[in-house]
Order: sequence, then C-alpha cells, then structure tokens
Amino acid sequence: SAVETPELLPEVQSFLKETRKMLIDGRWVKSRAGETFETLNPANGEVLAHLWEAGEADIDDAVTAAKKAFEDGNPWKKMSAADRAHIIYKIANLIEENTEVLAQLDTLDNGKPIGDMRGNDIPNAIGQFRYFSGWATKNSGQNIPVSDSLLTYTRHEPVGVVGQIIPWNFPLMMAAWKIAPALATGCTVVLKPAEQTPLSALYLGKLIQEAGVPDGVVNIVSGFGKKAGEALVQHPDVDKIAFTGSVPVGKHIMRQATDTLKRVTLELGGKSPNIVLPDADLSKATPGVFGGIMANQGEVCCAGSRVFIPKQSFDNVVSDLSDYAGNVKLGNGLNADTEMGPLVSKQQQDRVRSYIETGESEGAKKTSGAPYDGNGFFVEPTVFTDVSDEMTIAREEIFGPVVVAMPYDDIDELINRANNSEFGLAAGVWTENLKNAHYIANRLKTGTVWVNCYNNTDPAMPFGGYKQSGFGREMGSYALDNYTEVKSVWVNL
Ligand code: NAD
Repeated sequence: SAVETPELLPEVQSFLKETRKMLIDGRWVKSRAGETFETLNPANGEVLAHLWEAGEADIDDAVTAAKKAFEDGNPWKKMSAADRAHIIYKIANLIEENTEVLAQLDTLDNGKPIGDMRGNDIPNAIGQFRYFSGWATKNSGQNIPVSDSLLTYTRHEPVGVVGQIIPWNFPLMMAAWKIAPALATGCTVVLKPAEQTPLSALYLGKLIQEAGVPDGVVNIVSGFGKKAGEALVQHPDVDKIAFTGSVPVGKHIMRQATDTLKRVTLELGGKSPNIVLPDADLSKATPGVFGGIMANQGEVCCAGSRVFIPKQSFDNVVSDLSDYAGNVKLGNGLNADTEMGPLVSKQQQDRVRSYIETGESEGAKKTSGAPYDGNGFFVEPTVFTDVSDEMTIAREEIFGPVVVAMPYDDIDELINRANNSEFGLAAGVWTENLKNAHYIANRLKTGTVWVNCYNNTDPAMPFGGYKQSGFGREMGSYALDNYTEVKSVWVNL
C-alpha cells in the first residue's frame, strides 16, 4: 500500500515488549505455573505480544482476592456509594486521556480500523463508566407498605464475586460493559478477556488501579477458555458468571453453573434480520443495511446478516450492496484510510471462508467477494443471493462480512421468516411508514429492534437476547439486576 502505517506510540511499544502480567489483588503477577501464550496481529499474522497464562491456581488467587475485597470491613465495602461513583467516573476520564494508546492496542490485537476505536469503541467504553457511575448512588430498594405495625423494605445488595468472560470482537468495550455495572452495584470482579485480544483489558486494569479502585476489587486474568475460563466458572466462591460469547460455550457454562447454582447471564450470538419495506427510502436503507452487516468486519453479535428485500426492488438493492462490497478498502487497521480490517484470527478467517464455500455448494450465488491477496486474516465482503431460508448460510451465525439477501412478497409471511431463527438478538426495519414500523417492531421476537438505523447502542439503553441469544440485559437500569440480590427486611414495630 502507498499509505504508510503510522508509528506506534512509545507507551504502546513498551507495553508490547514485556511479557504482560496479570492483575491479581492489586499486584501485577506472573502465572504460578509459569506458562505463557502469544497474541497475534491479525493484519500480518505476526506475534504481537507475550502474556502470562492463567491456570487454575491463578484463578483461585484472583477469586480469593475478589472474595476478600468483598468482605465487610474492607475498603470497598466501607466506601460510600458517592465515593464509589467518583472512582468509576475517574476510570472514564483515564480511558479518555489514554484514547490513543487503547485505540492502538485494540486495533493491533483485533485488527479493526483505528477510526472505529476512536469513533465508537472508546467513546462507548467511556460512556459506560460515566453512565454507571451515576447509578452507584441510585440503586435503591423500596419501602413497601405492608402494615402500620411493620417496617418492610428491600435492599439492593451486590451479588458478590462476579466472574466475567468476554469475547474478542470489541475487547475494550466488552470489558467496560461488564466492569462498569458490576462496580456501580458494589460487586468485585475477576475478568477474563478473550485469549485472542487480552491487551486492552490489561491496560484498563492499570487505569482502574490509577483511578483508586481498592486492591482485589477488579482482577484481570489472561488465558484460555478451556483452562482459565473453566476454572472461573467452576470456582465455588464465584457468585455469578456474566458471559458474552458463542452459544455452545454459553450452554456449557450454564450446565457447569448448575452444581453451585451460580447466577448466570448470557449474551450470545445472533442471525439478525434486517428488513427493507416497500416504502423504505432506499438511499438510506441500502447503505444502512450494508453497514448493518459489514461494520467491525461483520464480527458483531447483532450483525444484520439476513437481509429481506421486497421483490420489486431486490435486483436494485443487491446490485448496490454488491457495488459497496466491491469498493470497501481492506487493509491494516492502523492506516487512516482502512475501512475494513482483517478478521481476528486465522481460525475465524477459515471459519468464515468455509461458510462461503458451504453457501456456494448449497447453491447460493456470490455476487461479490473478489479474493484479497495480502498477508493477514482478511475475508472479502461477500453478498449472497439465491438463498433459501433452510440453507446453512441463512441459519447459522457466520460472524464475518457475509450477508444473505432474500426477496419477499408479503409482510406477514416476511415476519414469520424473520422470526424463524433459534436466535433473537436484534432486527432492523427500514420504512417511511410509522404504522408499519411499530407493527413489525411489536411482532419481532428480538431483544432490540432498530428502525431506520442499525447497530446503535447507548449505555442507557438495554441490550440482550430473546431465545438462544441469551438472557439478562446489559446497559441501562436493567444491567443493575444482573449484579444485584434483592433482600426483604421485616421489622415488627
Ligand atoms: P467463545 O464463546 O469461544 O469465547 C468467548 C469467551 O469465552 C472467551 O473469553 C473464551 O476464552 C471463553 N471461553 C471459551 N470456552 C470456554 C469455556 N469452556 N469455559 C469458560 N469460558 C470459555 O466465542 P468466540 O468465538 O471467541 O466469540 C464469538 C462469539 O461471541 C460469536 O458467536 C458472537 O455472536 C458472540 N458474541 C455475542 C455478543 C453479545 O453481546 N450477545 C457480543 C460479542 C460476541
């Protein structure tokens, strides 16, 4: 490419140089077993950094620290809600001050365009801590009028030690979605970032310490799902697991949690329908639909991966989508002109490519997707037509820049098809008719419906799934429920 890749900040260079330690009980430590692992730069496949790998003993240390920090009499428990709010707000400010460092770290580790970090992931992460800092002082119970001879009230108490397990698609943002509400409610945390993208969470750990969060309240352990993740889920002193990731792992975690009846919330996958109605303004709907699937390389749990288009405008819309796909600028996410980066890993690239092959072998037609010849784990944006609802590519989550475009005739039949999925995370509707918008929004079995927009999130708006997309809601006041036990107190007067 003629575009020079910008220099890494000195802070980033030094962060990448040393084998990254884990944050346990306020100290930066190696793993007890002495094992390390590598994280790769998906733009070129080279080793980006080395990290200590958490095993069972390290998870036990982290959980023990979180348990101790949650005990009565310790700083976190003694702290007023207002002081906790202040510290949470300070984390937001420190993320803001370190925007460029965090932007480079996630772009290097995940591959995504750095403009996305500056414009989306980082402002969103800052917003989570700002928003939830406000809730620290407002997570109130109720005084319930049972009888004049009783004082009856509820207390909203923190659930305790929370194990948080997150995926690689929005590394910093996912850490923020998890940590901010847990701190607002007064919980303590052991967070395990995805093994593919552990760097920004560890850097966030440094900022969390700087903000004044007491030792042991937030512990950040890098390692693999099979080892560190399993150990966290099985640990008897973990009160709750908050998980974002794939459906099979979500189900596995739920099974594991039955032994101790840990609380579990799950944010899982999707196969979200994005519906263009006959009265849509196509000049907005077509680019909206394209962005709805291609943003973040299609590695978005709520990606609008099934697009429904009225028969009469099908050819036009598909032709525009294919043109857009052919013109996306793929490249190293650090370059300012890159519109789409590589996928996160070789494994993800292979997985998405194999879905593209399956689509073709099942008879679907690819209208774009010329091969990209470069290093790194790239997959070309791909639009499929001639797709039936039963095909693998119309049913399974691909988690890459691949969309199926399907025509329809009748709106009620369309709603049934849109709902005909084991997932129910999100949906989009494009229309200039408000009545249609609300009619369809009411009938879609999904946790979010976007009308004339897509992929919007805000710390104040809840997000989560119907059906096998999981349960529990992140963000908004609803997120507090994920981290709160309700206690009823009866006082006989
Ligand atoms: P994954 O489920 O394999 O991994 C997610 C996390 O779980 C990682 O931290 C991993 O180390 C850990 N993990 C893996 N096996 C584990 C085990 N046995 N016990 C405990 N932890 C374990 O998913 P992935 O492939 O890394 O991520 C992509 C998936 O995540 C997609 O299916 C996507 O839809 C989903 N996702 C959902 C949301 C959402 O908010 N609903 C957001 C992002 C991604």
